[in-house]
Amino acid sequence: MHDLLAVRGLSRSFGGFKALSDVSLSVRSGERLGLIGPNGSGKTTLINCMAGTLAPSQGAVLFDGQDISALPPHRRTRLGIARSFQIPKPFSTMSVLDNLRIPIEYVVHRGGGHGAEIEAQAQALLAKFGLAAKAGVPAGQLSQVELRKLELARAMAARPRLLISDEAMAGLSSSEVDEVLDILDRVSAEGVAVLMIEHIMRAMMRFSQRVVCLEAGRIVAEGAPQDIVRDPRVRKAYLGE
Ligand code: ADP
Ligand code: MG
Repeated sequence: MHDLLAVRGLSRSFGGFKALSDVSLSVRSGERLGLIGPNGSGKTTLINCMAGTLAPSQGAVLFDGQDISALPPHRRTRLGIARSFQIPKPFSTMSVLDNLRIPIEYVVHRGGGHGAEIEAQAQALLAKFGLAAKAGVPAGQLSQVELRKLELARAMAARPRLLISDEAMAGLSSSEVDEVLDILDRVSAEGVAVLMIEHIMRAMMRFSQRVVCLEAGRIVAEGAPQDIVRDPRVRKAYLGE
């Protein structure tokens, strides 16, 4: 597996506070990589730097071998990087279907495309994400788990090669966590690399092939999930031992 996305020596400060210090990390093509770490350890800051919504103070981001550090978010989306937001922000008054039509039209068809074709693609995505029955419902009326699914579907509408999922399972019940995991499994089975940020250890263990742990803006451990949960540095940083 070759490196699909790589960050090299990434640092990011907010004022005098170093949220990320010299982070180097890669996501391989088709890989399922887990990113863990306590609240405030820099996980969202790191993916913001990958997606281009935040500029690093130092370091570079490469995608498919190309330095994309200077590219704005929409250009990175077109190259194949999609991310979900920790707090989903759909267009609440618009239908679930229309919430997907927009990214399909602008990312896949670049503002062109036929209405019927875009609609068919949006319907297919909804079916895949278990939201077909909600197509006509305003997004503001969705339940928490449905909102998370819509957020992931919206990211997948761009047909990415890498999906970055930022705590899509936080606050969900155990069976809802399984529903979201099933969706991520299906995305992965299509060959899309998935970077999953998650606090729920069971989900992390089931999904990830490899796990990276951040603490206070630095990578403190990296390895197979079964080794990571036993790693003393991880237990200290993450589990508070
Ligand atoms: P995580 O996602 O791991 O919980 P974040 O990346 O959101 O952590 O935040 C890492 C640290 O950087 C936190 O201390 C947070 O308060 C700080 N931080 C994040 N974004 C900003 C910002 N825009 N301005 C100032 N500080 C920020
Ligand atoms: Mg976060």
